[in-house]
Amino acid sequence: MKSKQISIETGLLSNARLCLSPNHDDRPDESEINLIVIHNISLPPGQFGGEGIDQLFTNALDKNEHPFYEEIVDLRVSSHLLIRRDGEVAQYVPFHKRAWHAGESRFQGRSMCNDFSIGIELEGTDFEPFETIQYDVLIQTITALLDAYPGLSAGAITGHEHIAPGRKTDPGPFFDWDRLSRHFNTSLPAPADCA
Ligand SMILES: [Zn+2]
Repeated sequence: MKSKQISIETGLLSNARLCLSPNHDDRPDESEINLIVIHNISLPPGQFGGEGIDQLFTNALDKNEHPFYEEIVDLRVSSHLLIRRDGEVAQYVPFHKRAWHAGESRFQGRSMCNDFSIGIELEGTDFEPFETIQYDVLIQTITALLDAYPGLSAGAITGHEHIAPGRKTDPGPFFDWDRLSRHFNTSLPAPADCA
């Protein structure tokens, strides 16, 4: 995956499956894209490969389909990208737009991380390892993002649990930060609370 596969004009990855979410708006400053936030998600929880994530991000969940869906059916959330267990990438929000993935959050003195971050979901849970291909695709995707958006840096990659401690636990203990740190030759996750 080369950087030319990100169009700055459209904010889209050319090799991603497009499933646009209405749950986004404008960033306060489009040129301020400074952070990558890693998440995990699975719907129903612990089940992989279904349509629940697309449905959540497009406000199309059927609350009768699973008891958990009743709790989340009214959420208005999204992420820029999802990397599925088989390595497929789905894009829900163009990168220059603000996806609603982080909620109340703080990174190195700045609150409202949605304003200045890109959210990447890995299909997974807090309770089991991610797939090798997910790391391969994640690293390729981050490399393309770093090339395309000069405000990003390899040292500014962190987890949802780090920017929303006590409230969020993803990507969780099975996410292999060392793998990312080795590849990008930096220490990850970036600490959320030091300047
Ligand atoms: Zn999250």
